[in-house]
Amino acid sequence: MAELSGAQIVAKSLKTQGVQEMFGLVGVPVVPISIAWMQEGMPFVGVRHEQAAGYAAQAASYMRTHLSAALVVSGPGMTNAISALGNAEANCWPMILIGGAANVTLSQMGDFQDAPQVEAARPFVKWSDQARDVRLIPRLIAQATRAAINGRPGPVYLDLPGDIIDAVVDESEVQWAPEVEEPARPTVSGESVEAAIEALKTASNPLVIVGKGMAWSRAEQEVREFVDKTGIPWLATPMGAGVVPADAPNNAAAARTHVLKNADLVVLLGARFNWILHFGRPPRFREDLRVIQLDIEPSEIGANVPTEVPLVGDGKAVMGQVNEYLDEHPWKFEDTSEWVASINAEIERKAAEQSEWMSSDEAPMNYYRPLKEIQERMPRDAVFVTEGENTMAIARQVIQSYEPRSRLDAGTWGTMGVGPGFALAAQVVNPGKRVIALEGDAAFGFGPTEVETAVRHKLPITWIIFNNNGIGGGPDELPEGGPGEMPPNALVPRAHYEMIMEAFGGKGYYCASPEELEAALDDSFQQEGSTLINVEISTKAQRRQQQFRWLQR
Ligand code: ADP
Repeated sequence: MAELSGAQIVAKSLKTQGVQEMFGLVGVPVVPISIAWMQEGMPFVGVRHEQAAGYAAQAASYMRTHLSAALVVSGPGMTNAISALGNAEANCWPMILIGGAANVTLSQMGDFQDAPQVEAARPFVKWSDQARDVRLIPRLIAQATRAAINGRPGPVYLDLPGDIIDAVVDESEVQWAPEVEEPARPTVSGESVEAAIEALKTASNPLVIVGKGMAWSRAEQEVREFVDKTGIPWLATPMGAGVVPADAPNNAAAARTHVLKNADLVVLLGARFNWILHFGRPPRFREDLRVIQLDIEPSEIGANVPTEVPLVGDGKAVMGQVNEYLDEHPWKFEDTSEWVASINAEIERKAAEQSEWMSSDEAPMNYYRPLKEIQERMPRDAVFVTEGENTMAIARQVIQSYEPRSRLDAGTWGTMGVGPGFALAAQVVNPGKRVIALEGDAAFGFGPTEVETAVRHKLPITWIIFNNNGIGGGPDELPEGGPGEMPPNALVPRAHYEMIMEAFGGKGYYCASPEELEAALDDSFQQEGSTLINVEISTKAQRRQQQFRWLQR
């Protein structure tokens, strides 16, 4: 029998568990894992900062609806990836982070980059452990995989000391583990389904809210069937977008404030009443709101708002049950209160308001015109990654999603810096698709060197920077003085971010007017490699007047 190293056993085990790519930043002691992984014929995407490895692995996991991996070195390498674990946990996304660690044999002796990594990961993960015996690695990886993808998904952490990575054993001694079974898809009782439909029948202003739990569950066909069958107005959360195509009938997204405020019954599908949905409470929702709630996580039921009909199970499986029930007992929403008419009127009003902004020729530009130009050129199946403050919020109104798991943003944690890692993952997972990474200039600052990763790996991402000189719109010119005078949100005005792309051999564009942007977009979509379009946005440009501030409690 052949001898195998810990690194080789890790690589084989991850491959067995269906991991398809690894993002990482190599160094002592994890280099052998990256090499063993590539010797298995698997792609390793070397990034420039551990945060990008973690963000990429979780986005790849979500888009594949399976597990993807990140590899980082010990000590600061591992702690650099903790925000990514937190972000995955907040988003209910799986990923496996593999951290190199100080040698077991040098424990408590002040070894290189020694740190309490298993403990550091623990508050943010579903499973955290250290491999202490090379022969047990496959079992640990199988356990970690099962934990990550079952129930409410989440990240897991495996700590691998250098002397375990390098240890060599005879293959026959290894405790191999088979590929773990597909995650269970729990269903609900027939009575629960009936109760849900009976409750729906008594609503005058019903609304379906589709969250990213349904995207993870691959419930796109079932949810589409449900909204078609019932004719109930629906909207998606930012990353639930695309589960039902934006142009499907009864999309109430453009009347978001109106429908949240006036719905008397919400069918909450794989989404949480957290800050993104204003806690489900007044003034954003009605005091007497009734809720039918579908979630795989029992502890989520009734959180913040009492649930009238809980459906604790898997999104795809339960929506399948609901549709079957509707086949046998057909029912369609009857609009006795002019609910749909009021939504359509609101959508028209908003569209008229927006179209003025979208057709503006002013330079520097507002947010709406460039977003309209991007939307018009984006293929229907493009993957759209976005982060930033106004950039992300306004993009949510203008950029439409037609495919599930095709929109990624700062998410439940509101994490800035996720964009580059997400974009790398999007292009790795979807090699034939157009990937657009729309970044506010401040958000882009968290990881601009990942542009080099994209060029090096020949990932033809279109990066677009909305550049308004700072966090939430900086000054048009910097003050004369230094730190004592500098506004805290200021960035260098009209910085040439496109030169970052050019530094690595990609094509960059600087656009100060709508015409320049149109030409740049057309040209960049013809390029084979990664490109970066730097768009000057007016420092005065804001969102249209909001009835409620986004973060209003
Ligand atoms: P959004 O940001 O789109 O509102 P959240 O992340 O707040 O979505 O909520 C997603 C919800 O989906 C979580 O409460 C999670 O437990 C739930 N969920 C995850 N997987 C499934 C599944 N397979 N079936 C049903 N619900 C799921």
